[in-house]
Amino acid sequence: MNETKLSKRLETVAGFVLEGAKVADIGSDHAYLPSYLYINGQISFAVAGEVNEGPFQSAVSQVEKLGISDKVQVRKGNGLEVISSNEVDHITIAGMGGALITDILEAGSDKLHGVKRLILQPNVMVERIRIWLRTNGWELIEEVILEEDEKIYEVLVAERGNGDEPYSDDKELELLLGPFLMKEKSSPFIKKWESEVHSWKRILNQFEQARETTEVIEKKADLIKRISKVEEVIST
Ligand code: SAM
Repeated sequence: MNETKLSKRLETVAGFVLEGAKVADIGSDHAYLPSYLYINGQISFAVAGEVNEGPFQSAVSQVEKLGISDKVQVRKGNGLEVISSNEVDHITIAGMGGALITDILEAGSDKLHGVKRLILQPNVMVERIRIWLRTNGWELIEEVILEEDEKIYEVLVAERGNGDEPYSDDKELELLLGPFLMKEKSSPFIKKWESEVHSWKRILNQFEQARETTEVIEKKADLIKRISKVEEVIST
């Protein structure tokens, strides 16, 4: 991977950046994503934010090598503290857990005023992001699930709007599976949830051996309900 050839995962993120955007890529490591976007003429400006010294230095070397340091500005700092209000209109955050991504958005909520689009690629705990978006006035407008090097990734795109869109009857299930992804039922989606159901069944089996406390009974009931709902989605 480099500034001209991204991984399929980051290429998917890049595909959702609108022409002429100003982007903050938070947790930018080598700054591959913003460099690619700038070199391809897709964006006019980017901030590559990094909290750790090693990846920060890698990003600095990358943009210096390309001679684009004034247009892809590498800044060291935690989350959205590297940008000022109204400096960017897109934020990309990729390759971190859903909890860290929502912590970054929450802590930097005062920097989100001029931001039109969020493109988020959580490695785990994707549901957390859907919940955060829904409760913070961001409408999930698109989702993609893809497989690369035997790992499954999800990319979520949100714009300002009614957080209740696009959810309908069973919000809990839609927040877990993804309202768009559960309709599409692509093969990475089926693979991901077959594997989740498999591990839930293992946990359930352990609960069957445990002493029946109120907590165990509740957890078992919750797992049985979840397994049945997810199995219904992936089997139809
Ligand atoms: N975004 C790149 C990608 O998707 O390939 C790099 C992903 S890498 C696994 C996560 C990066 O986020 C690391 O370089 C880490 O230093 C950085 N990071 C973690 N927490 C951060 C935070 N709070 N603010 C800025 N960067 C952070």
